[in-house]
Amino acid sequence: MSGKKRKKREKKEQFSSEICDECIPAKCCMYFSIEIDEPENDGDYDDLLWIIAHRDTEIYVNEDRWYLLVRSPCRFYDPIKRCLIYTRRPRICRSHTTDECEFDDDYGFDLHFHTYEELERYIRTNKE
Ligand code: SF4
Ligand code: SF4
Repeated sequence: MSGKKRKKREKKEQFSSEICDECIPAKCCMYFSIEIDEPENDGDYDDLLWIIAHRDTEIYVNEDRWYLLVRSPCRFYDPIKRCLIYTRRPRICRSHTTDECEFDDDYGFDLHFHTYEELERYIRTNKE
């Protein structure tokens, strides 16, 4: 790695650590999300309503892909020590950076349904 690159990386890591220090509990460790099939018919939308009827679930759309988001803290998060398995944390955690993270609560999704009612309204509006 060139000196210039190293300097850039050090700067980024320092910045990351500074904003992460203010982020307690770490927002990125408080949920997980997985891609789901894009709904294509009434039945599919009805299934999404069933999903979001469950507590602590949300659905969002980003770049035409649909995702289920579950607000469930990682069991390895500790507010003092942070990640209890840091050196062997999963690759999704390793690749997460502060570049576009959740720190300012701006997830930047194209659509984001936090509740059953929001999704129900969207379905009704898009049917008309
Ligand atoms: S959400 Fe962003 S600022 Fe907060 S701990 Fe995760 S990477 Fe750091
Ligand atoms: S494994 Fe560590 S970095 Fe990953 S979500 Fe859990 S506490 Fe956060």
